[in-house]
Amino acid sequence: MTYPTVALKLQAEELIRTGYPRVFQKQIASKKGKISPGDIVDVLDSRGAFVARGTANPYSRILVRILSYDPDESIDNDFFYGRLRAAKELRDRYAVETSYRAVFSESDRLPGLIVDRFDAYLVCQIGMMGMEVRREAIFSMLQELYAPKGIFEKSSATMRKPEHLTPRVQLIAGDCPALIPFEQNDLIFLNDVMHGQKTGFFLDQRDNREAVSRYVRKEDHVLDGFSYTGGFSLIAAKAGARVTAFDISERPLRIAQEAAARNALQDRCNFQQVDAFAKLRELEEAQAQFDMVILDPPAFAKHRGVLPNALRGYRIINRRAMNLLPEGGILVSCSCTQQVSEGMFLEMLNQAADDVKRELRLLEVRRQPFDHPVLASLPETRYLKCVIGQII
Ligand code: SAH
Repeated sequence: MTYPTVALKLQAEELIRTGYPRVFQKQIASKKGKISPGDIVDVLDSRGAFVARGTANPYSRILVRILSYDPDESIDNDFFYGRLRAAKELRDRYAVETSYRAVFSESDRLPGLIVDRFDAYLVCQIGMMGMEVRREAIFSMLQELYAPKGIFEKSSATMRKPEHLTPRVQLIAGDCPALIPFEQNDLIFLNDVMHGQKTGFFLDQRDNREAVSRYVRKEDHVLDGFSYTGGFSLIAAKAGARVTAFDISERPLRIAQEAAARNALQDRCNFQQVDAFAKLRELEEAQAQFDMVILDPPAFAKHRGVLPNALRGYRIINRRAMNLLPEGGILVSCSCTQQVSEGMFLEMLNQAADDVKRELRLLEVRRQPFDHPVLASLPETRYLKCVIGQII
């Protein structure tokens, strides 16, 4: 089978050859053959030799998403089934629970496909053209591999816009309760799949939540600044803490409250609908003290241009949090902003500590768990930072 071809500019060859899986329009010197959205294309070097094969989206800045470096490999249903099976095998081998990210896009060499498993249910995000045109086939493969009770598609606007795709939120197969109950960290959580953020719950903090719970002592007072549906709040409560949790939105707090009740932890949790920025300042002025403060805010920057603002935002909340901690108190500070590197994040923490003349000792510098793997050739797949520090 012959595919349309795109030839790389000389200066782009090295990057693509060494495994960077995205080819930008501006890296292309010439094209041959008609390319429709989602088509398979061959990527050639500047002398016309085969480099890689992938799917194309003529509407996107990223023209090709690379799938294979083998000229003899056909990109057909068997190919995608093999990749999905490989992703499942990794989780089957190492996951300790049945809720996890089952497919993480390029990190599973399935660009544009995210699948989160919540026990018996799958929640999918399709974010790129190559997957969009194969969606029916992909869904039936997921059905076969996981035999879920339901598959829900939550393909939101933000990731689809650059690909010229409109959002799609719908039930694909089976049934799906409005609040999917599932287990993580030996707790029952509720996924508000339709109205929640992204796939409804942040599975990527699993190991970090478990790590954080090891620093909680009985009757500690823990502040969770951006609680969402209670991921960190509930594990802290289960470890014996009294938890005060903030969020600016009412709906996730209601769900957190309900989840707390399901785990018989409602008496230990106090959920409050407030702006954490303002409330942290108010507490700081009142000289309130906590044993632990957890900050896991939303991404502050979606592109590089607003990076300085994002870092300023992090610095403000972190210095306020440090002022709420006595000596020996624990700060858990997270960032899911991909543009903020671990180095930048640690530097910001140091500046925040300096702002308030406190010393922060880093106990753990954590990242994302194995089910959100990082591709060595694509550092952009590493996005989560979770620092556990102690005020000394
Ligand atoms: N820690 C959570 C995830 C947090 S997501 C977990 O473990 O699941 C970020 C949350 O911050 C969202 O729920 C959002 O509603 C909330 N948020 C955004 N701006 C806020 C603000 N100014 N004050 C308080 N919460 C805010």
